[in-house]
Amino acid sequence: MRIGLGFDVHRLVEGRPCVLGGVRLEHPAGPSGHSDGDAVLHAVTDAVLGGAGLDDIGTLFPDTDPEWAGADSADFLRAAVERARERGLAVTSVDVVIATEGPRIQPARAAMRASLAELLGLDPDRVNVKGKTLEGLGALAGGAGVAVQAVCLLEE
Ligand code: MG
Repeated sequence: MRIGLGFDVHRLVEGRPCVLGGVRLEHPAGPSGHSDGDAVLHAVTDAVLGGAGLDDIGTLFPDTDPEWAGADSADFLRAAVERARERGLAVTSVDVVIATEGPRIQPARAAMRASLAELLGLDPDRVNVKGKTLEGLGALAGGAGVAVQAVCLLEE
């Protein structure tokens, strides 16, 4: 067994679509980024790559490369799962914490679990998503951004 850890932070910017975990949320601001800015998919992608010993998302999909401008981050995660599979590793569970005071996470949890489960080829009960506020503390308070942690278990 191997464990991978991923982390990501994005600013929330007025007028950007708010897509997290592959799910469109009703919110006036969305994550900025070269791609679609989906910080949940980026953190999970990095967890998969980390556990498989495969560098990181920035190395595989550089934000200086025009190919990835406006990219659907689901493609990053699918590619990471495939790269892990080529190494004989299967993702068997994922847990995610989303810290933000922007969009409400709780109403979208089930949809995010289903979305991640489909991308990872897992049953939804092997994927968990939790939302946390920031108690009004720090640079992300007041909906200025979103921070995501993800852990991923892989089995040979
Ligand atoms: Mg990112």
